[in-house]
Amino acid sequence: MTTSISGVQVYYYSVCKRKLWLFSKGITFENEHDRVLEGKVLHERSYPYLERKEQLIDNTFKIDAVEGEYVREVKISSKMANADRMQVLYYLDQLRQRGVNKKGLISYTKERKTEEIELTPVEERKLKESLQKILDLLDQPIPPPFKRLPYCNQCAYHSFCYAREETEE
Ligand code: SF4
Repeated sequence: MTTSISGVQVYYYSVCKRKLWLFSKGITFENEHDRVLEGKVLHERSYPYLERKEQLIDNTFKIDAVEGEYVREVKISSKMANADRMQVLYYLDQLRQRGVNKKGLISYTKERKTEEIELTPVEERKLKESLQKILDLLDQPIPPPFKRLPYCNQCAYHSFCYAREETEE
């Protein structure tokens, strides 16, 4: 039975439940590495003035940066705004459980905008429900069925998910 959840898994839960399952079972593909590298470069360039970049909390999860009362995350675009939001709420909740109360700021570099995130009681409840659903999903022996999504062609699992369709054409 799965017991711990990461910020990436919370993010994937909002993006695609099949992706979450595949990733969590260790099924990954090469361009996942490209994305990691892309994220690394983005983070290096985004906060050169912040002393405390990439904080590893309790050897469990990483946050991009801490600035005053805010936990900061930097993303390329707001295409996955809901998933970004859930990920930051997860970090805020994890920090709160350790006695640290912060708000979140997500900076979208492409659109040059910043969104403030607060862990209200309503958000906290929603997050807890999602975490439980993630645990239930990860206990399933097979992945959720493939469902075409608008961003499938940018997904590392594209060839995997579409393989059968392509051979049937
Ligand atoms: S290709 Fe589409 S369905 Fe498959 S894991 Fe990625 S987003 Fe989900």
